[in-house]
Amino acid sequence: MNLPGQPAKQGARSLDPHLRRYAARTAGMTASEIRALFAVASRPEVVSLAGGMPHLAALPLDSLSVEIGDLIAQDGLVALQYGSAHGVPELREQICDVMALEGINGHPDDVVVTVGSQMGLDMVTRIFCDPGDVVLAEGPSYVGALGSFSAYQAQVVHVAMDADGLVPAALQEAVLAVEKAGQRVKFLYTIPNFHNPAGVTLAVRRRAEVLEICRRHGILVVEDNPYGLLGFDGTTYPALRSTDPDNVVYLGSFSKTFAAGLRVGWVLAPHAVREKLVLAAESATLCPPTLNQLIVSRYLSTHDWKGQIKTYREAYRERRDAAISALEQHMPVGSTWNKPNGGFYVWLTVPEGVDTKAMLPRAITQRVAYASGTGFYADGLGSRQLRISYCYPTPERIREGVRRLANVIKDEMEL
Ligand code: PMP
Repeated sequence: MNLPGQPAKQGARSLDPHLRRYAARTAGMTASEIRALFAVASRPEVVSLAGGMPHLAALPLDSLSVEIGDLIAQDGLVALQYGSAHGVPELREQICDVMALEGINGHPDDVVVTVGSQMGLDMVTRIFCDPGDVVLAEGPSYVGALGSFSAYQAQVVHVAMDADGLVPAALQEAVLAVEKAGQRVKFLYTIPNFHNPAGVTLAVRRRAEVLEICRRHGILVVEDNPYGLLGFDGTTYPALRSTDPDNVVYLGSFSKTFAAGLRVGWVLAPHAVREKLVLAAESATLCPPTLNQLIVSRYLSTHDWKGQIKTYREAYRERRDAAISALEQHMPVGSTWNKPNGGFYVWLTVPEGVDTKAMLPRAITQRVAYASGTGFYADGLGSRQLRISYCYPTPERIREGVRRLANVIKDEMEL
């Protein structure tokens, strides 16, 4: 770690005249590989399997524009005004109805509206983590969460997953190892449904076990669940929060079920934690955007939002099928992948000897982009893995992208 006044380790920053001024915590702030890629990957000739952008073309834009116009005409003086850091009350009630689909019995007072669930991750880390505290997270894990943990100088210890999600025995082992080293685990960060990036779902029979281990060791659970309603067969799994409300902080979002650009998410916290979150939100943004919250609220009350989620699910299932059949058709022997039952992502392991980070510039030259595996680990693992996002391109483009990717991997094997 760099102390204030000491030069930072990153080479690129050494040209920065403000170097000596930055707080020590900025040493952990590095650009994610995915963001660095964004500009090249969005060129039209490149099939981008890199970013997790939702398929917004499925939205009813005409009726939405009428609703948004009406909202400003009828309630503009409220919609364009400051609000409370806690969030718009009617939206917090509607959020409780959404969470009820996963068995959660939440009270609107315990919901704090956030600027996307990314802000929830930042706030939760801010209120719980001191520098050096340990956060347990699946390996691999969501890159934006790893960014928040490192910005607050928390240390991430990864816990293994298999096809049924987080492995309880591995969790138990990790907790004991951290305790033995005299360190403090602040929370377990987990994405139980349709994991980003691994695509797997925590088996229902494992859920109670994970909660029990965390309870026994006094570890809070942070459940991040933006994809939970996007199961391709329509199954919704019981949220961890539904069975252990006092020990689970739940993060939700409208980014994948409605519109990511509105940046409306939420945290459902145990009652005692709620107040700290509101204070953290206040100091970060004063309040989440009132207009966007009212747009979501109006959408939930005037549109068939469950029907829209079904439409999204069908679109994503078709894209998943395109990705899987193209993988089966083109990938060289020695590659393995999972078939996700929901969400946006396939996690691919390439044949031995291929390094997905080193391969990326060559893949972009061959007009396909992906997210290399190392970005999803805090400890440098993942060089034989990569994430394919099938959410955004059309099925035809996905098939072409996977075909190009397979050719790049085959060329790499011959190097
Ligand atoms: N958590 C996970 C697991 C995600 O995949 C994402 C978005 N990719 C987020 C949180 C953040 O979502 P948002 O801020 O748009 O709600």
